[in-house]
Amino acid sequence: MPPRILVLGGTGEARALASELTDRDEAQVTSSLAGRVRDPRLPDGHVRIGGFGGADGLAAYLAEDNTTAVVDATHPFAEGITANAFAACRTVGVPMLALRRPGWTEQSGDRWYRVDSLTAAAATLPAFGDRVFLSTGRLGLSSFGHLDQWFLVRTIDQPDPPMPRRSTVVLARGPFSVDDELALLREHRIDVLVTKDSGGSMTAAKLEAARTLGIPVIVVQRPPVPDVPTVSTVEDAVLWVETARTDHDG
Ligand code: NAP
Repeated sequence: MPPRILVLGGTGEARALASELTDRDEAQVTSSLAGRVRDPRLPDGHVRIGGFGGADGLAAYLAEDNTTAVVDATHPFAEGITANAFAACRTVGVPMLALRRPGWTEQSGDRWYRVDSLTAAAATLPAFGDRVFLSTGRLGLSSFGHLDQWFLVRTIDQPDPPMPRRSTVVLARGPFSVDDELALLREHRIDVLVTKDSGGSMTAAKLEAARTLGIPVIVVQRPPVPDVPTVSTVEDAVLWVETARTDHDG
């Protein structure tokens, strides 16, 4: 029986991994998406969409599917599914790998302020001026709901209320160019940018644009990864799957 790999996705790395593994044809790969984005970029191969019903639901899925290994390639800030995967894999005795792209690195000329949460970001904001570019995604915007500043909110799909009281929403999906980000920051006379430390190239241009314009950036730090093997590249994740397959065969 070929190994059965569950890739928890919603990222470019998860799509790249599914593509690599599907091309190799040595394992049966299922990619799982939460179903948050209305028109998601779909990975190659078999895809399932929607929650599992918590850690217990995921454990039941793994047992029923005879999954032999799980790669958690979700976004670094998708804490809930990562915690569920950790608990479920432990329950059913399935090995788990975390694939996490590296975080962004501060460069000369950057004015970064690192905080631990969206709530902490909101608490620091009043010191930075009236016009905020909020690029932290669709969820968690209520953390900024009590502030009087004006927010440019950029998301892929329309965010649900509650929103910051004074805000304009721009719907867009990366990758973004530095020129476009410079134009956006200038057009809206942005005083401060708020971002998660998502890492990767798709949305990094805003950091270069902020550096060029001397705009401060509030960077929300990543939550910790549970105690599982962790790699930062798709290539290393493929190697881990190969090893897991050998163990499975052996
Ligand atoms: P989350 O808070 O960690 O998860 C909340 C619930 O959504 C989970 O308990 C699970 O529901 C379901 N879920 C999440 N990811 C799933 C997946 N890949 N497959 C099946 N169910 C999933 O997740 P989130 O932060 O809302 O992120 C949702 C998805 O968007 C993730 O797949 C993530 O990779 C992607 N994403 C997140 C961000 C971000 O900033 N958080 C940014 C870009 C992309 P059940 O308990 O019912 O199983």
